[in-house]
Amino acid sequence: MQIFECVSCGTLVGTENDKEPLSCPMCRSRMRLLEEEIELKKKIECPDCENSFFVKEDFNPYKCAFCNYTFVTSPHRRTEERL
Ligand SMILES: [Zn+2]
Ligand SMILES: [Zn+2]
Repeated sequence: MQIFECVSCGTLVGTENDKEPLSCPMCRSRMRLLEEEIELKKKIECPDCENSFFVKEDFNPYKCAFCNYTFVTSPHRRTEERL
């Protein structure tokens, strides 16, 4: 896994197969490759471009790291905790 960090907000994104994320899933800034080994366990699959990336467990991406797809999340945490 390769770990990338957003140069602007510090969001971490992990990718497989040497794929480079195009932009930060939160603020759309550039991502830079980190040398550190960080394990990111939460896998996000994009239904639009079919790429996947990894984030921290408590992180909910706003955008796909590879395309312009916007994930549907509840902005006011109304249904977030319901399983
Ligand atoms: Zn960012
Ligand atoms: Zn995508």
